[in-house]
Amino acid sequence: MVITPDFGDVIAERMLAVHEALAVRWFERLVDLIPVDERNVFPSNSLLDHVPALIREISESIRLGGDAAMAANTSILDKARELGALRHQQRASLHQVLREYQILGGVLVQFVLEEVERLSTVPSASACVFVVSRIHHAVDVLSQTTVEAFVSLYTRTISEQTERLQQFTRMATHEWRQPLGAVQFGISVLQQAGVGDRAKRTLDVVERNVAHLVDLTWKLEAMARLHEGAGDTVVTQTVSLGTVAREAARQLRDMADLRGVDIRIAEITPEIAIDVGRLELTLVNLFSNAIKYSDQSKPERYVELSGSADDDGCRIVVRDNGIGIPKRAVSTIFQRFTRAHAAGDSLTAVEGVGLGLSIVDECVRAMGGRIEVESLEGEGTTFEIILPLSV
Ligand code: ADP
Repeated sequence: MVITPDFGDVIAERMLAVHEALAVRWFERLVDLIPVDERNVFPSNSLLDHVPALIREISESIRLGGDAAMAANTSILDKARELGALRHQQRASLHQVLREYQILGGVLVQFVLEEVERLSTVPSASACVFVVSRIHHAVDVLSQTTVEAFVSLYTRTISEQTERLQQFTRMATHEWRQPLGAVQFGISVLQQAGVGDRAKRTLDVVERNVAHLVDLTWKLEAMARLHEGAGDTVVTQTVSLGTVAREAARQLRDMADLRGVDIRIAEITPEIAIDVGRLELTLVNLFSNAIKYSDQSKPERYVELSGSADDDGCRIVVRDNGIGIPKRAVSTIFQRFTRAHAAGDSLTAVEGVGLGLSIVDECVRAMGGRIEVESLEGEGTTFEIILPLSV
């Protein structure tokens, strides 16, 4: 069947003649359907001509019928991008922008139907389908261009805000360190000076809370630093896994002694080419959790690290015989600020903020690996890190 080009031409011509009225119709429909403040949609006069210009271009694409015509028209695509920038500036949602184009398509198709009824000769069905599909195609191209501009600005704003937040976190945590250190020093001086029972109990509570703040500060700072280096080239060094693990264990010796946990590191561990800073941060967090969540009812408490490497990469296993993780919580423990043990439970009430494992997860990902966990309540927990880097 021959497609009637005349019908396309007729519609294109009519659409061009009434494009401003169609823009007004679109606007009225928009205000009807979406809860927008109409004064906010086009606040500047220079932007008022955008929708009429888009409709003009759509009529042109119906007339020409070629797919490439619109893609080659840079000025109309620029207008579609400006529209994306404007809607972003006005804090419109992506859903709203898409709805605006959907409404535009609806108004134009409705217009075609009205024209069909107005015409003395009824066009063929295929001619109608042809015109409607051209309208949809043109609206698609324009909306895609607007959405691309909108999303790219949105992404830029988010990364700028994230960067500002991280800068603030780095600065704030750095500033907190010194006064917290002074408070910790003051507490130890008072404890040594010997105080009455009541004051001693109060001091112990203050000490625990300050230790909690120090832990939180350290973790927030570690996270901010992780992101700081996210875009940089990773410094890879060849080290023995055992050496890094022993350094991590050294940093936690006091804490491990206090809770009676033995940190066992396998005698033979592989050499790996790795970002040492991230690996150390990972192990410090895993060891400190194994110590915090050790089972004080067991006479022997331990966390052990072993490792192996082959052509496929390196496996690091950190296993403890602590209290374990409740089954329902295993899938969420790597999320930020998620804790698996109820803080009110006196058996498991351990100070924590739920950041350690999310730091671990980010570090492992940044090293190109993945981490898995298996745990049995009352038995213990095993973390397995699989890294692609080995020598
Ligand atoms: P937190 O600061 O609470 O320790 P993490 O992100 O390090 O935060 O861990 C999240 C939660 O996972 C912890 O609150 C704890 O309930 C659980 N968890 C992590 N490691 C262990 C472990 N080795 N044994 C038992 N539970 C653990």
